[in-house]
Amino acid sequence: MTKLQPARAETTEAFLAQAGPELASLCTACGACFEACPMVDHIGLRAADGKAVTDGLRRLATGKMAPADTIAWVKACTRSGLCVAACPQKDAGLNAMLLVRIAKQRALNETHQIPAKQDPTLFPRVKIFARLQLSDEELAKWM
Ligand code: SF4
Repeated sequence: MTKLQPARAETTEAFLAQAGPELASLCTACGACFEACPMVDHIGLRAADGKAVTDGLRRLATGKMAPADTIAWVKACTRSGLCVAACPQKDAGLNAMLLVRIAKQRALNETHQIPAKQDPTLFPRVKIFARLQLSDEELAKWM
């Protein structure tokens, strides 16, 4: 049987509140993760200032508003993971992709710079809540 890893925090909010600032404090906003990201070309941001975009990444990970280019970038993350290897702070414990994912979640939940309807986890979460709340009869009718 597969053994599950222990949860990193009791709730997602607790994890974001703890890990976001921790990872952001390791980030130097050098822009290397942005330069390595294949989505940058896809979303037309290759000419953007990577240092400014990643400074926005740090801000977002701590729950502060970020510039539009940062929002467009974190929104486009497809988890290629190329940023992880490109990050010069990886040996210090910085997982760049995790920082990007946390920043994206904060843009969804806290700064509301990404509309909730663009959250790929929104409908699965609604379904989970529905399964917890609805009767079997209602589930058969609605789900
Ligand atoms: S996450 Fe790493 S690569 Fe990206 S800006 Fe911060 S230090 Fe640089």
